[in-house]
Amino acid sequence: MSRQVVILGSTGSIGCSTLDVISQHPERFAVFALTAGRQIDKLLQQCLQFKPQYAAVLDAMDAKALQQQLKAAGSNTQVLYGAQAFADLAAHTNTDIVMAAIVGAAGLLPTLGAVKQGKTVLLANKEALVMSGELFINAVKQHQATLLPIDSEHNAIFQCLPAAIQGSCYQSNLAAAGIAKILLTGSGGPFRQTPLTDFDAITPAQAVAHPNWSMGRKISVDSATMMNKGLEFIEARWLFNCSADDIQVVIHPQSIIHSMVQYSDGSVLAQLGNPDMRTPIAHALAFPERIASNVKPLNFFEVADFTFTQPDPARYPCLQLAIDACRHGQGATTALNAANEIAVEAFLQGQIRFTDIARLNARALGRFAGNSALSLEDILALDQEARRFTSTELGSLSS
Ligand code: NAD
Ligand code: MG
Repeated sequence: MSRQVVILGSTGSIGCSTLDVISQHPERFAVFALTAGRQIDKLLQQCLQFKPQYAAVLDAMDAKALQQQLKAAGSNTQVLYGAQAFADLAAHTNTDIVMAAIVGAAGLLPTLGAVKQGKTVLLANKEALVMSGELFINAVKQHQATLLPIDSEHNAIFQCLPAAIQGSCYQSNLAAAGIAKILLTGSGGPFRQTPLTDFDAITPAQAVAHPNWSMGRKISVDSATMMNKGLEFIEARWLFNCSADDIQVVIHPQSIIHSMVQYSDGSVLAQLGNPDMRTPIAHALAFPERIASNVKPLNFFEVADFTFTQPDPARYPCLQLAIDACRHGQGATTALNAANEIAVEAFLQGQIRFTDIARLNARALGRFAGNSALSLEDILALDQEARRFTSTELGSLSS
């Protein structure tokens, strides 16, 4: 029987890549529900093609318009709205697999809802784990959910782990499995070689133009500041039950190696491929089997030389802030994530400079690093407080 898939954030970059893979395997997967924020036109097309039982959007007016258009096109898809609807669909009895691909903190509650129903959760929404790592992983354990990483680096690390611990990597002892280090690779983004004196003048259009990956706007800016690697550092800490000392960030500009695992006997296992998110998506959808993804096969005679460098903290201050926050704990990472979402949005809106993103993040971490946030209520309250703080700080930046 085909597995019923819910895609949270189906109109985004990961959502569309997921539907692309699913469309190649109609005998394996059926789309049970699709959700989006506000991109109604795209969601309409997806509903007509994939015929889900449900679709959900953020607000009532959009839902009404979408429902009318679907009906007019002869579709039976039922449209729901609101954050609760996302969570209900993710946790629905008929749901087998949830692709968590909403961007930002908005993804936390529906993703956690799926975990609490013991679903198979394919996690792209790294911000959920950055905000609530401990609580999230405890819920995975308690409700015996299956958690599979979609982020290409974490999916690569997962693939390089011994099979015996893959299914429970979030609670395994890496050292006992012979693992010495997790090597988290990153391209260094579009400004790896830009003179630091030019950083103040970087525009949103330049920042979202990633050299190797095609992604949503927020994660593209995060890649340019390397906050994305910082969020991934925190994500890795929880997904692989390790400490900050077990993870090393390596800049690999070609984005062909997607991350590596270094073993105590000297072996290093790496996962390679062309940079296309359909590979980790296909891997996780079919795990432990392998299915086609339509990703162009890697041709070693075409790839450029592989190079590796250490990240320069002066160029990427956000990376260091995230590593510091990881060492502080859940309160610090929740606050940093919230501040970063506000700062990135303000940068995309042209309100602040590129370099102000790190400035605002540093202020929020300075203010909230000592806060503890253990319960979901604490986490959500701290998230809001850090957003308010950062919005106020925005006004005090000199232009
Ligand atoms: P995107 O901006 O392209 O898409 C985001 C999706 O979330 C859209 O469907 C949008 O409608 C929906 N959404 C936005 N705000 C919402 C809200 N408040 N409530 C409900 N839905 C909302 O983003 P993306 O690049 O697909 O990234 C999605 C997630 O996957 C992010 O957490 C990102 O860090 C992670 N990720 C993405 C990539 C990539 O290659 N794009 C790689 C690794 C991880
Ligand atoms: Mg990644």
